[in-house]
Amino acid sequence: MTTQDQSITPLSRRALLRMAAVLGAVGAAPALRAQLRSGDRVPERSELLIRGGYVLTMDASRGDLPGADVHVQDGRIVAVGQALRAQSATVIDARDMLVLPGLVETHWHIWTTMLRSLAGDVAERGYFPTSRGIGAFYTADDMYASGRLACAEAINSGITFVHDWCHNVRTPAYAEEAIQALRESGIRARFSYGTPTGQANDVPTDIADLSRLRESWAGRSDGDRLTLGLAWRGVGSEAARRDYAAARELGLPVSVHVNNFQTSAGGIAAIAEAGLLGPHVQLIHAIWSSADEVAAVAASGASLSLSPFTEMRIGFGFPMTGEYLAAGVPIGLSVDTPTLSGNADMFAIMKAIQNVENARARDEFKLTARRVLELATSGGARSMGLDASIGSLTPGKRADLILVDTRQLNLAVLTDPAHMLVEAAQPANVDTVVVDGRVLKREGRLVGVDVEALVDETRAALSGVRQRANWQ
Ligand SMILES: [Zn+2]
Repeated sequence: MTTQDQSITPLSRRALLRMAAVLGAVGAAPALRAQLRSGDRVPERSELLIRGGYVLTMDASRGDLPGADVHVQDGRIVAVGQALRAQSATVIDARDMLVLPGLVETHWHIWTTMLRSLAGDVAERGYFPTSRGIGAFYTADDMYASGRLACAEAINSGITFVHDWCHNVRTPAYAEEAIQALRESGIRARFSYGTPTGQANDVPTDIADLSRLRESWAGRSDGDRLTLGLAWRGVGSEAARRDYAAARELGLPVSVHVNNFQTSAGGIAAIAEAGLLGPHVQLIHAIWSSADEVAAVAASGASLSLSPFTEMRIGFGFPMTGEYLAAGVPIGLSVDTPTLSGNADMFAIMKAIQNVENARARDEFKLTARRVLELATSGGARSMGLDASIGSLTPGKRADLILVDTRQLNLAVLTDPAHMLVEAAQPANVDTVVVDGRVLKREGRLVGVDVEALVDETRAALSGVRQRANWQ
C-alpha cells in the first residue's frame, strides 16, 4: 500500500517531494507518487509511568487526582493513583501537566481537510459547491494525502479518536487509501463508508465493497483501534434505505446528517417513522429539531454529534445542546470539515459549545466547563458506543491520554483545571499524546512524522486536484 523505504533520508525525501509537487501539478503517475510517499512509521507501544500530574480521570467514581501517576502497559491503563511503582516503565514527568483522556472527535469529513478554509464568500464558491466541485476530481492518493494531514493535525491537537465520515468513496481504492492514512497515523478511528460526493441520491452505496471490508476488517483494524460504519444518506431514497438495511445486516453502526436547514426540518421524524432510530444510530447537527424529535431520539438510544463552528459558519444555526442534554441523549463534539472550520481545535470547539449554549439560555451557569469536558471525552466515547474501552482514565481501558502543559503563558496561573481546558487551552499546549499505548506526540512534537515533508506532500496533492478541477 505504502512504500516504507527507510533508506531515503528526510533530506533527500524533501527534495523528492518538491519534485513531486512540480510533477503533481501536471499529473504525476500514481506509481511515482506512491514511491514518494512517507516512510513514517507508527511508534511501538511502550510501558509508561506518567508521574506526578494533575489527573482528570473523567471517571465519575475516581474524579480528579492531584499529584497522581498513570501506569500504561501493552496499550492499556493498568493503574491510576499515587506513588505507583513500575520498574521497567519509561517515566514521563507530568509535574505541571494536566493529564486527561484523549479528546474524542465524532464526525469529520477527513478527505476535505486539505480543502482547508477554501469555502469562499459567494454562493458558487460556498462549502457545498467547493467540496463537490473539487471532490469529484480527487484521486485515491488525494484521500491518503488529506488523511495524513488530518490525522497529524488531530494528534497534534490532543485528539486521540476521529470519526472519518467518508462521503467520497469513488472506487474501492479510495476507501483503502483513506483507511491506510488512519492506520499509519496511530490514531484511533471509525471509518464510515459513504457514496461519492455529489452522487445522485438514488444510486446505491457500493455495499459489495463495504461487505468485503467488513469481512477482512481484522487485517486492517490493528486490534480494536479502527472500527467500521456506514455514512448514511437518510431515508430520502429507496437506495439509501437499502444501504441502511445492508449495514445493519453487517452489524455496522450508522451515522446520518439530519435537520441541518430549516427546510430539512422533520428529518428525525421521518427516520423515526420508518422505524430506523436506535442505539446504533448517530445523528449529526439536528439543528432544527422539534420537541417530539428530541424525545424520539432520547427514547431510541441514538446519539448526537455537534460541530458548533461549522454549524454557525455555514448558517445552519445554533446547536440544541441544552435540549438534547436535558433529554439524556449522548452527545459528542466534532470538527466536521476544516473547509469551513479552518482547523481541528477541540479546545476551541469545547469553548464554542459552552459559550453558544450559555448565550442561548442567557445564563452564565447553563453549561459548566466540567460538563463540556465530559462531552469531549467520556461523553464523546459514549456517543460513539466506545465507552467500555476509551473516554476515561480507568484501569482496563485502552491507553488514550494527553498531557497539557500548564506552564505556558495562556495557562500559566492554573486555576480550575476544567475551566482552563475549556476556556484557555490551545493545541500548542498539548505536550504529550498517547494512543493505544503508543507515544505519538512528546514534548510538543509529533513522533515519527516528518511535518515538513507532510506539508509539501499535501500542498502537491491540493495543487494537482485544483488544477484538474479547474478550481483556482
Ligand atoms: Zn458533516
